[in-house]
Amino acid sequence: MKCYHCGGRLQRTTNHNRYGERHRWFRCHDCGGTTHTVERYVNPKPGPAPGTPKPGPAARGERNAGAVFTADNIIEVRRLAASGMMQKDIAAQFGMRPSYVSRIVNRHAWKHIE
Ligand SMILES: [Zn+2]
Repeated sequence: MKCYHCGGRLQRTTNHNRYGERHRWFRCHDCGGTTHTVERYVNPKPGPAPGTPKPGPAARGERNAGAVFTADNIIEVRRLAASGMMQKDIAAQFGMRPSYVSRIVNRHAWKHIE
């Protein structure tokens, strides 16, 4: 990187401010000019940044962002299973894997519904 005041060579400098951030900037030895860069970042530390809210319990059921089925689907699956319908037929009807139907019927999944 060249000085944009005089075209001379720049020396990279780093300093730390009292907020624990690190700034990198450049100083030109030829003209004494300084160039601040956009680099300005908190010193990397392991783990989440301070002040990050602790994750709560996972969103269950429909409130989970990955949910495909609704509570009504689950109630219907359990109703059909209770009426004697084969789990693999229920799976085909809802587009689920049979193992997932089993998990719903045995209350391993969606256990907060009913
Ligand atoms: Zn310069």
